[in-house]
Amino acid sequence: MKRVINFSAGPAALPVQVLERAAAELLDWHGSGMSVMEMSHRGKEFISIAEKAEADLRELLVIPASYKVLFLQGGAIAQNAIVPMNLLRGRGVADYVNTGEWSKKSIKEAKKYCSVNVVASAEDQNFSYIPARETWKLSADPAYLHICANETIGGVEYHWVPETGEIPLVADMSSNILSRPIDVSKFGLIYAGAQKNIGPAGLTLVIVREDLLGQALPITPSVFDYQQQAENDSMLNTPSTYGIYIAGLVFEWLKAQGGLAAIERHNMAKARLLYDYLDQSGFFVSPVRQEDRSRMNVPFKLKNESLDEEFLKGAKARGMVQLKGHRSVGGMRASIYNAMPIEGVQALVDYLREFEAQHG
Ligand SMILES: *Cc1c(COP(=O)(O)O)cnc(C)c1O
Repeated sequence: MKRVINFSAGPAALPVQVLERAAAELLDWHGSGMSVMEMSHRGKEFISIAEKAEADLRELLVIPASYKVLFLQGGAIAQNAIVPMNLLRGRGVADYVNTGEWSKKSIKEAKKYCSVNVVASAEDQNFSYIPARETWKLSADPAYLHICANETIGGVEYHWVPETGEIPLVADMSSNILSRPIDVSKFGLIYAGAQKNIGPAGLTLVIVREDLLGQALPITPSVFDYQQQAENDSMLNTPSTYGIYIAGLVFEWLKAQGGLAAIERHNMAKARLLYDYLDQSGFFVSPVRQEDRSRMNVPFKLKNESLDEEFLKGAKARGMVQLKGHRSVGGMRASIYNAMPIEGVQALVDYLREFEAQHG
């Protein structure tokens, strides 16, 4: 069996140890005589899986007791609607920072439920940077302030947590959650689709401060009412049981790697390896301002775009896949989430060097 080096932005590569463990446990989970997929979500086996997953996640992110952890469905895109439905709490305005394609989607959806104040936008420079906090024009009494912590398509990432005072900070962390330690207490709510850094698609993680619950709009579907889901341990409906199980294995794997501080060092080393090569190259360019570059998603371009196809073909021949950039920005993108080993990034850099030597 030969596995590729998978640079997919999502669904993305999972740690091979996690896949091996899932394979070994597929037909008979811990002597239960069945697969996790076949278990009742209310049975003691699955409850133990879900509780362990939550406990390990709480340990990894050091989540304070005053926060609920919810395992929902609908992806981050559903959260674009679910967040305003739950967090407006009688207010009519929410503040959003526009840093790229995912911010834009969040803003568009929120407009169905409230008026949106865009406090800052990086559109003036093609979403190649994070606008400085001093430039943000917050509204007088917004329900919350929303950021996209890592723009998966544009490749910009916050390397700081914005100060928002009493205003709850809401972050879409779909593509950088668990890539580094974070201070959860600085956030009112964090959400993430699972398929980048957590587990399989179909599972959505929400971490929300308790005092923000219980004031959802009356139209909010019950399964998307955070309070109701919190009261029911995320089992108001049948949750993504297999997704929670795999996420739990990923959390165990992260702990075995030394936790998030160790993972962050690893991710920094990977990102540095790739950006350092791009920066000294006269052939490839990174379009993102240095201090705002994502450690997870690295877009880059060939100065001579007519070589794009040949570049991708050569990558594929070397077992490197999914390097084509998002259709909205073109060029290339290497997504190097937690599960990407540094050897995979080294193989890419070796190929960049070789390709440049041949065509540069
Ligand atoms: C992938 C992604 C989404 C969309 O997630 P879905 O699970 O498809 O809803 C939203 N925001 C960010 C930052 C993403 O990377």
